[in-house]
Amino acid sequence: MTDYYEVLGVSKEASVDEVKKAYRKMALKYHPDRNKGDSESEKKFKQVSEAYEVLSDDNKRKMYDAYGAEGLSGAAGAGGMGGMGGFSSMDEALRTFMGAFGGGGGGRGGHGLDSIFGSFFGGEEREGGPQQGASKKISIEVTFEEAAQGVEKEVMITNFSECSSCEGRGAAKADGVRSCAQCGGQGQVFQSRGFFSMSSTCPSCGGEGRVITDPCRTCRGQGRVKEKQKVVVKIPAGVDEGMRLRLAGKGDSGERGGPPGDLYVYLHLKAHEIFQRRGDDLLLELPIGFAEAGLGCKKEIPTLTGHARIVIPEGTQTGKVLRVRSEGFPNVHGHGKGDLLVTVSVETPTKLSEQQRELLRQFGELEGPANHPKNQTFLEKLKGLFG
Ligand SMILES: [Zn+2]
Ligand SMILES: [Zn+2]
Repeated sequence: MTDYYEVLGVSKEASVDEVKKAYRKMALKYHPDRNKGDSESEKKFKQVSEAYEVLSDDNKRKMYDAYGAEGLSGAAGAGGMGGMGGFSSMDEALRTFMGAFGGGGGGRGGHGLDSIFGSFFGGEEREGGPQQGASKKISIEVTFEEAAQGVEKEVMITNFSECSSCEGRGAAKADGVRSCAQCGGQGQVFQSRGFFSMSSTCPSCGGEGRVITDPCRTCRGQGRVKEKQKVVVKIPAGVDEGMRLRLAGKGDSGERGGPPGDLYVYLHLKAHEIFQRRGDDLLLELPIGFAEAGLGCKKEIPTLTGHARIVIPEGTQTGKVLRVRSEGFPNVHGHGKGDLLVTVSVETPTKLSEQQRELLRQFGELEGPANHPKNQTFLEKLKGLFG
């Protein structure tokens, strides 16, 4: 059994920051781009990414602490750990990696990696340089109806955003910023180390390339302030439990000219009183009476958008599934629509009146083997066993 804490070399009490720090260090060491074709490194990289994915997430970590890795399988839906055995694909591990470095994956992945390695090889913490704002996570609950139709939700988040007093300059007046004399505004100074020419952060301006002479009072020279922001989240039709949306640039604004972080929205599907869901299909259990099942009937049933009529054929048994086409969820990737699957459940009548009893007795006397093909088969099998 792999111990995630051991894998990352952190204590059980390690904070999220400590976990992140340990992961970053190891992930850079074992990153496949730096260890081409080395399967041992690849394995290590997947392992540390998997450990980080769990230990950096409060919920998953609690589950892991309580039940071990088994506790995580099936703990979440589509966005979860995807069962046991950890990260089977390098893609998953790489996504975790980009997430941990705030790169978010996608289009600027390649560039993000360059700058990650840049700072790694540079060896120093680029405290003073441009820094991407932190990414945020929130959860939103949607009802079945909202998931079927798509919905817009407004959420309030507390973000660092550009200071409006100084427009992000950090200086009170526009001329309160001057270019750094030591690096000529580059933010980097170059020096030779052995065979390599290395760039490092300018010690004078801390990598900013500029020096603030009169800091803005609102943000104390930070260029950004903490404030509540309203964010509109467009949730597409067809979303399911555990899915994640990424709102690029809706996290904290960057520091010193860095790009903003992203906002990750985790979706949870609220349980429905009568419907359940399986993939894009909507499930409904429909109780019907014993006479209705025997004689057949028409039934009006609810759908997510209104109602539909179905025909229950004569002689319908419990467990029979009737399909109403295209009354399920739209596929979130645009591949058509699911169906509504109605599972019939025949209810044996209870609390019979004397008249009902009498009628049933009479009915029972008239019943023949042809009325109960299932029972008939069963009896024949019994005969085979004991006869
Ligand atoms: Zn300001
Ligand atoms: Zn400088």
